[in-house]
Amino acid sequence: PKRVKKLAPEMCFCYICGNQYTIASLPIHEKQCLAKWKIVNSKLPKHLKRFLPKKPQILIKNMVDNLTRFA
Ligand SMILES: [Zn+2]
Repeated sequence: PKRVKKLAPEMCFCYICGNQYTIASLPIHEKQCLAKWKIVNSKLPKHLKRFLPKKPQILIKNMVDNLTRFA
């Protein structure tokens, strides 16, 4: 039989605030974090306003790479 390695819950970094969350809780957090970020940013003076951090596409890119490799 195949040996199944028990994985620890994978941790991901929130791309907005940089805190660590589990894969399960990250999407929920990201929504709240983004809403908060927008409020905070809207209150900043014009010269301090930031562009919204872009969501990293690394995971999706790897998936696409794998798909094309086996195609
Ligand atoms: Zn966050």
